Amino acid sequence: MIKTYTVVLATGMTSSPLTRFIPGEYDEYGRLKVGRDLRVIGSEAVFAAGDTAHALADDIHPTYLSCQHALELGRYAGHNALHDLVGCELIPYRQAFYATCVDLGPWGALFTTGWDREVRKTRHEGKAMKQQINNEWIYPPSPAIGKVEIFRHIALSAEIDT
Ligand SMILES: Cc1cc2nc3c(=O)[nH]c(=O)nc-3n(C[C@H](O)[C@H](O)[C@H](O)COP(=O)(O)OP(=O)(O)OC[C@H]3O[C@@H](n4cnc5c(N)ncnc54)[C@H](O)[C@@H]3O)c2cc1C
Repeated sequence: MIKTYTVVLATGMTSSPLTRFIPGEYDEYGRLKVGRDLRVIGSEAVFAAGDTAHALADDIHPTYLSCQHALELGRYAGHNALHDLVGCELIPYRQAFYATCVDLGPWGALFTTGWDREVRKTRHEGKAMKQQINNEWIYPPSPAIGKVEIFRHIALSAEIDT
């Protein structure tokens, strides 16, 4: 037995096999390629988000299979699918901010920003950031705050004018 504080599990990433039922172009993770409005290229009535979508976060960087991209992609895809149904204008997905935060156990955590992963916080400062991300940034709003507040929370996060 090897005692350790941290286990790094590297299994690779793959999209849901459900994507195979949708005609389109796929990337190496099995994600459907989408346009700026998150319509699937080749299946224009379908919008893809999260781990099923290969989208561009800015002009050159594809999204990752990650919660930070999944959350925003979901907001934009939902917004656009609804607007498409009622004949309103769609908005292009963009997500300029990119960060990573890796928790390394008692040592702390490593927080980076930008596509070149510039180190911003380490150890306990990084850990505090990780806890804020997990407990606040990506944590779904409580149903107790009510429907209106939940919608406000979602719209504000995405900076979408609803
Ligand atoms: C162990 C693990 C650790 C991770 N850690 C991180 C991390 O630290 N940071 C990070 O950024 N990302 C992390 N990720 C990745 C992150 O969780 C995903 O990128 C994100 O959850 C994708 O969101 P999604 O909405 O696309 O898919 P999901 O969150 O997987 O949601 C898909 C939903 O669809 C449901 N579903 C599937 N098939 C069907 C069906 N046929 N009918 C109805 N419902 C169905 C599933 O039950 C699920 O609820 C991690 C993933 C794993 C597995």
